[in-house]
Parts: sequence; structure tokens; C-alpha cells
Amino acid sequence: MVDDAGGSTAAVRVRFAPAPSGDLHVGNVRTALYNWAFARHHGGTFVFRVEDTDRSRATDEAYHAALDVLRWLGLDWDEGPGSGGPYAPYRQSERLEIYAGVVAQLLEQGAVYPCFCSRAELDARAEQARRDHRPPGYDGHCRSLSPAEVAAHRAQGRAPVIRFRMPPGSSTFTDLVRGEVTFDHALISDFALTRSDGHPLYMLAASVDDVLMKITHIIRGEDLLSSVPRQLALYAALAVAAEDMPRFGHLPLITGDDGRPLSKRNGEVSIAYYRREGFLPEAMVNYLALLGWSPGNDVELFSLDEMVASFDLERVSKNPARFDVKKLEAVNGEKIRGLVPADFRARLVPMLQAAGLVAHPPTAEQDRLLTAVAPLLQTRLSRLTQAPELLRFLFVAESAFVVDPAEAAKTLLPQTRPQLAAAAAALAGLAEWDAAGIEAVLRAALVDRLGIKPRHAFAPLYVTVSGRRVAPPLFDSMALLGRERTLRRVQAALDVVPEE
Ligand code: GLU
Ligand code: ZN
Repeated sequence: MVDDAGGSTAAVRVRFAPAPSGDLHVGNVRTALYNWAFARHHGGTFVFRVEDTDRSRATDEAYHAALDVLRWLGLDWDEGPGSGGPYAPYRQSERLEIYAGVVAQLLEQGAVYPCFCSRAELDARAEQARRDHRPPGYDGHCRSLSPAEVAAHRAQGRAPVIRFRMPPGSSTFTDLVRGEVTFDHALISDFALTRSDGHPLYMLAASVDDVLMKITHIIRGEDLLSSVPRQLALYAALAVAAEDMPRFGHLPLITGDDGRPLSKRNGEVSIAYYRREGFLPEAMVNYLALLGWSPGNDVELFSLDEMVASFDLERVSKNPARFDVKKLEAVNGEKIRGLVPADFRARLVPMLQAAGLVAHPPTAEQDRLLTAVAPLLQTRLSRLTQAPELLRFLFVAESAFVVDPAEAAKTLLPQTRPQLAAAAAALAGLAEWDAAGIEAVLRAALVDRLGIKPRHAFAPLYVTVSGRRVAPPLFDSMALLGRERTLRRVQAALDVVPEE
């Protein structure tokens, strides 16, 4: 029986298997998201496996950061660190005996062999091959060493890497995204399964774990497509039964603005960076989902639940997906506007606290201001990190408030004195201090009585009150600031604006 998962009806098991050597990046997390959504759509199992066998690169810090990012995004795993599971441990550094056992078995069978070539020898022969226009890669030098030769190398104290004897022929398989793919084995050299210190390499550890952990679908980036024939050859050597064989789906390349693969060189790739920069997890997952998939009907905004409901591999594109930070920002703005007010306010507070504008916990007065100002801000942000800049005028201690000198020089000119003075007088006499009342008296005083065009009438006041050019709307800002602080700022401006 075949279901729409493109496999047997056996329960779906997929995995996310990052190598914890730095921040998770856009590509990693898109892979995690697609695997997670696929598992949830099919009621399957999402496994988190940590590929930390490269001791020179894997760090504990990166490991914990990776778990943290997935939790932040809401991508929960059923098996893996902290969750355990029937195939534990899920950190490859804790599974070394398993890989050693597989290597011993393969040596016994003759499917692998020790290679004693040093890096210098390999490099020298590769250089010669280039000059002779022969294919690159390992040349099979140690494929048929005699037992005596092996013993002689060992006697010299040389430690071998273990290489897989790539069989002749070709591999054809049906990729769940790309369709039928064929690789000619003539182009695939005998690859190393271990380092010379016996430590397992990616091809060994990942392939072995995928079958031991009963992974049914390997969904990962296109950069790993060429490892499939090696993985399949290894499975043949290990006599993995057809029904235990995982299927493969390779996700399209993500490019930067220049069309080249997205990397540090042409874009910001770290998910932790976007988190710090005020992107909501809801926006990240929504936007990352769009890098190679969409639910159809031009729908571009959706929740994780909606993604789960409609996610499948058939709709995943083969074409490269361009990472567009402007689009991500637009999605973020939409997600911010979509938050219920209490939720928005709750996400705002840490931003203001980090900027030193609001206390931990907020004071009663800050609480009042937060509740009042949050709705004004919610429609105006594309990143949460813009909030401190927009709200500094309101939360700053009055004694620390300053008008940006560049703005003052441009806007608070001698000819604005009469309108600032008229505004001060009108505001001082206002009975009910609210936005509508403020607007009414200022319009009457500046537009009606002094005959100033609205565009010019309010700009100096805006700078006077907010200290800059970005803030919530003027009358609301004044209402929140209160009569006393507002009048003090207008007076302070009058004190410094030169006479005409
Ligand atoms: N550890 C590999 C990586 O981060 C995983 C590759 C795979 O999914 O097979 O690229
Ligand atoms: Zn060799």
C-alpha cells in the first residue's frame, strides 16, 4: 500500500540532524521545519539527532543553542535530547561503539579497506591527476594492498582511514522532490568512513543512524543529493532490507540576492541573529516555509498549524529559492499586527527592558503607559527591535530627554517661534488632556489662527515632543506624555530656538 507520504503506510519517521558547530542557519532551520511539518502532517515522529562526531568543530554551546532555537520556533521533537526515545542516545558522540561495530563488520566482509595514504601523498597524486586530466578524488591506491603490505604500514606506525569500496555501475533512485536521479559510480571515488584515529565521518554515522533509528524519509538540503549513491551502496553492503530503506527528498537550494548559495557572504544566515533583531518565531517559520513551498492559491501568510494541515513534499519546488530579507520583514510586520494585544504587549516589554527604558518588573506608571501605547505601536513595527527607538521619548526620564541636535537644527528654526509659543499657550489652557482635545486646540491655534499649512504647523512640535522624526502620531504622543511633560518640552524648545 502506498499513501501520500510517497512510501509505505508504515508510520512516518523523519529526523533533523544538525552538526552543532555554530549558529543554526536559515538552511538548517528550513530543513528542520519541513521535516517537522511532514511528521506532524502524517502523524509521524520527528527525531532530533545531534551529529557531533567532529570533535574539532562541535561545541556544547552550539548544541544547546540549537535546541533553544528549535524550542523558540515551536518545533517540538518526539525523540532526541531531553525527550529520550527507543533509539537513544541521539547524540552521535555517545554512539561511537555502534559505528565501530559496523566498521568491524564491513572490514570482515571486505566491503571496506584501510587506506594508509597521507594527506601529502593524496594531494600530490590529485595534482598529478589534474595535470593528466583524470577525474579528481581518491584513486584507489590502497584498494588491493596485500596483508603483508598492510602489516608493513602498521609496523611503521601509520594509522589508516577506512575507505568504502564503491562498487562499479550506477545508482538510480526516485527523489521525492526531484524525481528520478541517476549517479554514475565512475564519478564516485572510494570514500572514507572513518578518520585515521578511528573517529566516524558523516557518511558512516548518518547512514547507520538513519537505518538504526528507522528513519523512513530523509528530507534535507540539495547539497547532500550527491551523498545518496554512497549511502545506498553502504546499505547494500549492510544488507539493509528494501522495506527498511529510507526514501530521500532534497530541498531546493536557498540563494542570496546575487543568486549564489545563501551564505555569510551574501546575507545574514544565523537564526539567532533574526531572533535578536526582533523577528517573531511565527514570522520566521512562515517565511522559511515559503523558501520552496507554499500552500497554494497565493496564500503566503499562515500559522504552523495551517502549514501542518497542508504540507506535503509534492508541492516542494525543485527551483532555487531566493532569501529576501525585505519579504521576511513584511511577513514579520503582518505577524506583529496579528498578535492579540496582550501578547504584543508581552513581547514588547523585554525589548524596552533590554534598552533600559522599562524596569524589571515595570513600575505602575510604566505599566499604564505600556498599555496605552502598545496599540499605537503595533501597527507601525516591522521588527520588535524598532520599539525602543520609537518609544524612548515616552519612557525616558524627563531630565534625560534631549532633542536630536540634527533634527533641531533642521526643524526648530527662528521662524517657528511664534507657532511654538502659540502651541504652548493653547495647550496650557486645554481642560481635558486627550488626543482629540489636543488636536482641536492646536489646529485652531496654528492652522486657523496663524494660517500655517498643517504639514508645516506640526513638524516642529513633533520634533519638540519626540526628540526625533519617528514616534507614534503627535497628538497621541502628547496625550500619553501628559500635560506637564509636554509643556516642559515645548518651553525647552522655545528656550533654545534662536530669535528671528
Ligand atoms: N549533519 C548534517 C548537516 O548538518 C545532516 C545531513 C543530513 O541531513 O543527512 O548537514
Ligand atoms: Zn590509500
